[in-house]
Amino acid sequence: MRSRAVPQTDGTYRISGQKVYITYGEHDLADNIVHLVLARTPDAPEGVKGISLFVVPKRLINEDGTLGKRNDVYCASIEHKLGIKASPTAVLLFGDDKGEVGPGAIGQLVGEENRGLEYMFIMMNAARFQVGMQGVAIAERAYQKAAAYAKERVQSRAVEGSAGPVPIIEHPDVRRMLMFMRSQAEAARAVAYFAAAWADIAHYHPDAEKRRQAAATYEHMVPIVKGWSTEMSIDVASAGIQVHGGMGYIEETGAAQFYRDARILTIYEGTTAIQANDFVGRKTARDGGAVARALIAQIRQTAAELAGRAEGDLAAIGRRLAAGADAYADVVDYVVAQMKTDIRGVFAGSVPYLKLAGIVHGGWQLARGAAASARALGAGSDDRSFHVAKIATARYFADHVLTAAGGLRDSIVDGATGVLALSADQF
Ligand SMILES: Cc1cc2nc3c(=O)[nH]c(=O)nc-3n(C[C@H](O)[C@H](O)[C@H](O)COP(=O)(O)OP(=O)(O)OC[C@H]3O[C@@H](n4cnc5c(N)ncnc54)[C@H](O)[C@@H]3O)c2cc1C
Repeated sequence: MRSRAVPQTDGTYRISGQKVYITYGEHDLADNIVHLVLARTPDAPEGVKGISLFVVPKRLINEDGTLGKRNDVYCASIEHKLGIKASPTAVLLFGDDKGEVGPGAIGQLVGEENRGLEYMFIMMNAARFQVGMQGVAIAERAYQKAAAYAKERVQSRAVEGSAGPVPIIEHPDVRRMLMFMRSQAEAARAVAYFAAAWADIAHYHPDAEKRRQAAATYEHMVPIVKGWSTEMSIDVASAGIQVHGGMGYIEETGAAQFYRDARILTIYEGTTAIQANDFVGRKTARDGGAVARALIAQIRQTAAELAGRAEGDLAAIGRRLAAGADAYADVVDYVVAQMKTDIRGVFAGSVPYLKLAGIVHGGWQLARGAAASARALGAGSDDRSFHVAKIATARYFADHVLTAAGGLRDSIVDGATGVLALSADQF
């Protein structure tokens, strides 16, 4: 925010300042690196309305397209991190007069002055979705590794008795952990695809009103994809270590790396709290809960269809989903009603609300998958094992993950007092 951009007579700008945490801000993988940099021009308005966006290359480009002079942007250090160690995170100095162009990195304005934050959010919104997908990917990888190890590692007799020690996948608690991992990775992936489909409709539908509605639905889903999938990925990677026992804690198996790598996902591109603030404010309260309630109506429809089914698994999933939808609806009512009178109380529950929405959407998508698998089985599908597993995974999620929705609702609606009771100096 303090970086400065001074206009030059030739239409370029001279940029000075420091930027921290710049992913791939410096590396040896390419001859040139092009930075997109936010900076303030001398007469810019105060605050975020006075930020402009610039393109600043490490090496300037000559008229004939060849690489030219070294620009005045330098890497001061590469951070030492908990995880993602193959991703260089740079501290960059602009305007230290170290290049071949005199003091100030030479940059070109992108678009118009003072609209930099708006332009940056085009990238940020896409990046938030993509970081959610990183969460899905790490969770899936952690699950696959844990499932393979659980079939290999032999330890202890079976609880019901066995001739000798058995592969740990035979122990009920290892099954519990694997189902916890598998069901959440599967649910989060389905939620992300559901959101992505709305992004496609928002871009390509011929009807402008349908495009607008689809964009609103997609935007409602983005903080869920980002916030919930990434928080989930940490829990899943942690369970993956637990499945490996002692082997999980040492580096050799790679299970620990998933955990360390997942830990950044809830932080960069906006922490979970920032996603939750967006979800409560812009994505729920601003439209009076309209998009949230439209989604809840669809969730209730799926729940009612399943609850009426003869198959025990589908009916049970339907009942759990109905309860989850009720919890979601109660919190939307609370957020909309209390936003003006008790804003601190509402924001005290913002992250739990995001989590609640994540698990209800996850349960919904798995329920839809279970219904589709039941249809496929009814039609005599060749891939029985796949469809049986889809229904079982949805049932696990409904009984073990979706059931948290009611508790989260109670914490959000009744629990703000405890969050906010102490004064800052009592901590
Ligand atoms: C490895 C790595 C790579 C990164 N790559 C890039 C990059 O390429 N480009 C780039 O621009 N940035 C990058 N970042 C920066 C990253 O996006 C920020 O670190 C992140 O958004 C958090 O901001 P912060 O560090 O200022 O934390 P802070 O804002 O100081 O947050 C500290 C705590 O306070 C909470 N908090 C802060 N404000 C609020 C609020 N309003 N409501 C509730 N809680 C709040 C946060 O949730 C968090 O728990 C990277 C960071 C890391 C660690």
